[in-house]
Amino acid sequence: MKIAMTGATGHLGRLVAQALVRAGGAAQTSAIVRQPEKAANLAEAGVEVRYGDYDAPASLAEALRDVSALLFISSPERDDTIRLRQHRDVIGAAQAAGVRRIVYTSIAYAERGRLPLHRLHLGTEQAIRESGLAYTILRNAGYLDIVRFLGVREAAASGVLVSPPGDWTFNNAAREDLARATAAVLTEDGHEGRTYELTAPRVWRPRDLARAISAASGRRVVHRADPDMHGDIYRMLPLSETRLVSPDLERLAGGPLRTMRDEVNRIFGTA
Ligand code: NAP
Repeated sequence: MKIAMTGATGHLGRLVAQALVRAGGAAQTSAIVRQPEKAANLAEAGVEVRYGDYDAPASLAEALRDVSALLFISSPERDDTIRLRQHRDVIGAAQAAGVRRIVYTSIAYAERGRLPLHRLHLGTEQAIRESGLAYTILRNAGYLDIVRFLGVREAAASGVLVSPPGDWTFNNAAREDLARATAAVLTEDGHEGRTYELTAPRVWRPRDLARAISAASGRRVVHRADPDMHGDIYRMLPLSETRLVSPDLERLAGGPLRTMRDEVNRIFGTA
């Protein structure tokens, strides 16, 4: 069975490709990339590198030749009109090439979110369902690197982790774990027609983050709500579903997941 994947030169895709190689699947894997020179390490590992650009539909048709399963990692394009067109072109090319199954990286709890991002992913999921192809939808939580943007180092320096007032919850996932789960879905039977919510198994809150910073930095850190604090993350959080969690990721990844505490330890070099 030939597995092809897009986004193989990106942060998530590289980890999925490595997981497929580790599982002994290099010879059955093709990386569809727009800059083949960036995929030299994959070629060295035995992965076939094919040229394919979301903005050049003819290249996609050629790149999807003889492919039975396609991992379609969503485009990073910021303009959602262009991005949806790119996504539709990939799905159309997969249909035309006779790809049997498409595995798509969507966003967690897509129908509960109220950001343009949620509409984009729902629109893509709908196009996949309407395509008639077999599919698996991987609804990825926000990446765990969000921890780096919550003022962790400042908190260690001042002893106070600040957030706006509110009962904030986070349910993020590490790319490493999403990659393990994705590789399992690509290589195992039984995932057709399934939609998985790939979140952490438990939510965490700013006060938990303050405790983790204390433990990693060796300095007492407390959480304090500050009405004068604003920021993009806290503006966007209420527009995503961050309270619900699912066991799907832990099950598919086949073991314990990286946690917020692991990410904090990585930041302080105490991992
Ligand atoms: P990333 O590192 O930016 O990787 C994006 C990949 O898409 C790269 O391989 C890039 O190729 C490829 N790409 C971009 N434009 C392309 C085009 N026109 N044709 C073909 N390939 C193209 O992103 P990531 O961190 O791996 O995340 C994967 C995806 O998840 C993103 O693309 C985005 O849709 C989504 N995302 C999710 C979160 C989250 O928190 N869950 C956060 C950010 C993004 P090059 O190497 O050639 O640029």
